[in-house]
Amino acid sequence: MTTLTDAEISADLAERGIRNLLFTMVDQAGIQRIKLLPAARVPSAVNRGAGFSLTSALLLCSDDAIADLEEFPQAQGDVRLFADYDAMRVIDAKTGLAWAPADQFTPAGEPFAVCQRHALRKQVRRAEALGLELRVAFELEFTLFRGDADSPVFAVNGPGYGLTPILEVEEWATDLLDACQTAGIEVEQIHPEYGLGQLEMSMRPKDPVSAVDEYIATRILVARTALAHGMRVSFAPVSAIDTAGNGCHIHFSAITSDGSNVFAEGNDGTGFSTTAGELLAGLVEHLRASVAMLAPSINSYARLQPGHFSGAYVCWGVENREAALRYIPGVSGRRGEGANVEVKTADGSANPYLAVATILACALQGVEDHLDAPHAVVGSPDALASSSDTESIAASRVQRMPADLRESLDLLAGNSMLRAQLGDSLVDSYIGIRQREWDAYRDTPHEERVALLRWKY
Ligand code: GLU
Ligand code: MG
Repeated sequence: MTTLTDAEISADLAERGIRNLLFTMVDQAGIQRIKLLPAARVPSAVNRGAGFSLTSALLLCSDDAIADLEEFPQAQGDVRLFADYDAMRVIDAKTGLAWAPADQFTPAGEPFAVCQRHALRKQVRRAEALGLELRVAFELEFTLFRGDADSPVFAVNGPGYGLTPILEVEEWATDLLDACQTAGIEVEQIHPEYGLGQLEMSMRPKDPVSAVDEYIATRILVARTALAHGMRVSFAPVSAIDTAGNGCHIHFSAITSDGSNVFAEGNDGTGFSTTAGELLAGLVEHLRASVAMLAPSINSYARLQPGHFSGAYVCWGVENREAALRYIPGVSGRRGEGANVEVKTADGSANPYLAVATILACALQGVEDHLDAPHAVVGSPDALASSSDTESIAASRVQRMPADLRESLDLLAGNSMLRAQLGDSLVDSYIGIRQREWDAYRDTPHEERVALLRWKY
């Protein structure tokens, strides 16, 4: 948190031309909840926090019910949202609008047990204690639509990776890149994906908390620039029926105290250090129980299907796009910079702080437990899992992801490692909210469910 006084913050805001601040927390349903403040109220929100009803933090994704959880009885109590001034960015220089992420505290000033940003910091400290500095990068997939919210049509229609779709939305795309530059967000690239209306943005690696903060700011900028160009965006895992889902792939790497990337040892494309093997092994061990944190909506499981590069099988493989864990050895001669692991299973309905905290919790557990990496899967994990090659199945520990939210939540509830790392209050309130989503919509027809979540994410 910043060390600036109220007066110093006011002076800094004036100097930077900031007139208003949008600050956000992401709740357990993966929805960004916000407060919009005039500059005069910003010092107070930074140094003393702004009150936020607990009920707002416990809404279902559909906003139509508040989860009545035992630990957090309805409508009682507040949390205080502290805007993180050091992470603030200008998101519109013309109007003087800035954005900042929020940390959640209790009225007594303790970190709130459910604060997902605190949970992520805990994993960063855990890595530091193991002598590892973590790097995280996001790939955001989303669908651009034109027309009414009630009857949207795809803004572009392919070809995937092709020139035509980007020319059709070129002004939006270049405005978006300019907005990211103004906000100090480092984008690697934008390209049309293979789904209808689908585009993808890749971000530069950062320390984990900054990477998630930038991901959230980027989503806001994608949505703002789309609206300014008469379009709407959906980050939902399934934004329309009969087209590819939207993933939120999360890359990570770890650097040791001597500055070497643990995933970049050796030159044969598979060489990595013992620590790298342990990080992967921890993920293979706990990933199925983590899906509830990564792909947590009722619609996420329609995306997690074989053949879609969405990580439908727990296993790892070298450059294997069908494995949930794709090891990317990096370009020869520059492996230290580029080698990383991509976790494909996450989608845009996740709380990104929790998704990254969970991935890191699994990986670091592998290091603490000195787990052995299973064998890499070459080719289709789906084919391997349904083959009679029991030896390779056992050696790779390949396993289909849970079939639905209900199964995911049961696995999460029973994982003592994740409970210990994330805390029972956080895990139980999370399960409570997502369970109610399952109960409310388990029998809703697919098409209606898709429409229900399309504009929530
Ligand atoms: N759209 C795919 C997913 O849901 C990913 C496609 C790709 O990036 O290769 O994760
Ligand atoms: Mg992609």
